[in-house]
Amino acid sequence: MTNPLNEFGSMTFGDRVMQERLPKDVYKALRKTIQLGKSLDPGIAGVVANAMKDWAIEKGVTHYTHWFQPMTGITAEKHDSFLSLADDKGNAIMEFSGKELIQGEPDASSFPSGGLRATFEARGYTAWDPTSYAFIKEKTLCIPTAFCSYGGEALDKKTPLLRSMEALSIQALRILRLLDECGDAVHVSTTVGPEQEYFLVDKARGARRKDLLFCGRTLFGAKPPKGQELDDHYFGAIKPRVQAFMRELNEELWKLGIYAKTEHNEVAPGQHELAPIFTTTNIATDHNQLTMELMKKVADRHGLTCLLHEKPFAGVNGSGKHNNWSMSTDTGVNLLDPGKDASKNTRFLVFLAAVVGAVDKYQDLLRCAVASAGNDHRLGANEAPPAILSVFLGDEIGAIVDAIVEGKLYDHHDAARMESGVHTLPSFFKDNTDRNRTSPFAFTGNKFEFRMLGSTFSISGPNFVLNTIVAEALDDFATAVENGAAVMDVVRDTLKAHKRIIFNGNNYAEEWVAEAEKRGLLNLKTTVDALPYFIQPQNIALFKKYGILTETEMRSRYEILMENYCKTLHIEAMTMLDMVKKDIIPAVFSYVRHISESGLKKRELCPDAPCSLEKGLVGRLSGLCECMYKKTEKLEAAMLGAKDVPEDVKSQAEYCRDSILTAMQELRAVADEMEPMMGQEFWPMPCYAELLFSV
Ligand code: ADP
Ligand code: MG
Repeated sequence: MTNPLNEFGSMTFGDRVMQERLPKDVYKALRKTIQLGKSLDPGIAGVVANAMKDWAIEKGVTHYTHWFQPMTGITAEKHDSFLSLADDKGNAIMEFSGKELIQGEPDASSFPSGGLRATFEARGYTAWDPTSYAFIKEKTLCIPTAFCSYGGEALDKKTPLLRSMEALSIQALRILRLLDECGDAVHVSTTVGPEQEYFLVDKARGARRKDLLFCGRTLFGAKPPKGQELDDHYFGAIKPRVQAFMRELNEELWKLGIYAKTEHNEVAPGQHELAPIFTTTNIATDHNQLTMELMKKVADRHGLTCLLHEKPFAGVNGSGKHNNWSMSTDTGVNLLDPGKDASKNTRFLVFLAAVVGAVDKYQDLLRCAVASAGNDHRLGANEAPPAILSVFLGDEIGAIVDAIVEGKLYDHHDAARMESGVHTLPSFFKDNTDRNRTSPFAFTGNKFEFRMLGSTFSISGPNFVLNTIVAEALDDFATAVENGAAVMDVVRDTLKAHKRIIFNGNNYAEEWVAEAEKRGLLNLKTTVDALPYFIQPQNIALFKKYGILTETEMRSRYEILMENYCKTLHIEAMTMLDMVKKDIIPAVFSYVRHISESGLKKRELCPDAPCSLEKGLVGRLSGLCECMYKKTEKLEAAMLGAKDVPEDVKSQAEYCRDSILTAMQELRAVADEMEPMMGQEFWPMPCYAELLFSV
């Protein structure tokens, strides 16, 4: 790629191509839908489909697919060619109709539906989402679509997200009108910039680990001599092989119109991060899915494996996703921008108070939105935010909120100048707040950063929750003001009522856990603790009220997520058993025999030679091997025990966490104790040092 700008977006049916190829009125109608969320006249679909097809064929494309996001968390596609019979003489033409663009009908029976649909009712529909640009991937025209069942229930991640964006827009506009701040705005969008963390390991080495292959994370592995103690990887110089990977990844992303912007080494060895420029939530979600997919593909081409799991390695940091989130009008006003003097900016204070109130009121829903077996290894460990939700506002906004709550006047200070003490360095104004890296939900200048997401997540879930809870808070605000309350009184009352959620200190400190408990904040440590809150009556009522999810849809999602937790643990446990029995025990036997034989041979040659080392090692390894075998039996028994537990997902998931996961941890501990005692060539898989420092 010579000038990346020439190629930027070349693989998307984006604004430029639409303008070039669509009749003016069709372009205008489509533009309105994309920008303002206006519904689209299906009559124009035929023209759009034809233009898309011509554009795609010129780029060598022969197939199209409805690209959708089922509850697996990844994307799905089924390819059809443009080929059609032209006549009865065996001639063919390339065709793509409006109907084919608008609607598809993949067999839905094999996607998770949480009991929504029996296999004999397999019909599922995909419906074109015109607000996200179609794109070409692997010579296939991909149409972003929503996916629902025959009965109209959402079976995917996109539908509730689109619904929530609409709900938020309606309520935000209501408030803006009441504040007389609406101007020409007719739509409010939520915007997201997700920072994506990942690990890269050498592909050949990774392929020799069944745990990475089946589970995406290591299930065994002793601590290497060096981990992240020296903090020398964070922002360190990027190695040539990683640099080459990043360059190609960027080029691929840019072609798809994805604004990949920042890249750097992260804290753990082998860990990296990519951040795009933010865009509307729906597109950001599609783009993040594509980014994750491309990371894996491009890594593969460079002899690397990209690990997106939340905790690929014990003992070093795991990977998360920071969901930078804000709201802005179609006229370009960021509603979380504090402006020059936040204390006098009523609009900002209203939206700020709405978010603070919503996060406090729905801590449980936000916690549910980031719950998964993988993320359980991260949240609460000393690296990621804890499982307790709280909001960081920083010094300035924090002081303003205090003043409002206490009914005092806030003393505004202009931004301070940064003085480095070196005259040749430029001087500039400091940000109004320092960064807080430990907060799960931090105000960062003109947006909130929700940091609890796991690295593999679709960002759809956390965002439809965020949009919905803030929509309700804005709705309550608007209703109060319409009923005659003064705006700043509502702001004050909201902040007063929800002040307990604000915490500007160190979220990793043990004292915070105790303090949070005193404040009555939830501390839902595991997925199994969190998810049952999802279907509590007030949460069902909330989603129903704004038309985001019906009770049936929520219950189905709850089932899917709980089942996914159980299945993940089962796969991990099975993988462990396989690795112990087929690889680790035979390896220890070989090594023990090797030591024993060499001891015996040594005695033959030289009867007085000392043998305590051999005896000691054989003794210790054999002892540990015995112990490991017992732990294997315990894990097997735990797995068998699942059938005696009541069949409902909650009992099953609790059992998995308390019995299976515990047995897995015990088994791992013995293997990890053995690993450093083993001769390098005897250990049956690459060790941590080889994986973490392999690239
Ligand atoms: P950090 O300091 O947390 O590493 P970065 O600068 O890497 O942050 O990333 C910040 C992210 O926030 C970027 O993806 C950026 O595009 C995004 N962002 C900035 N402004 C907004 C906004 N108004 N709405 C949503 N996301 C935003
Ligand atoms: Mg961040």
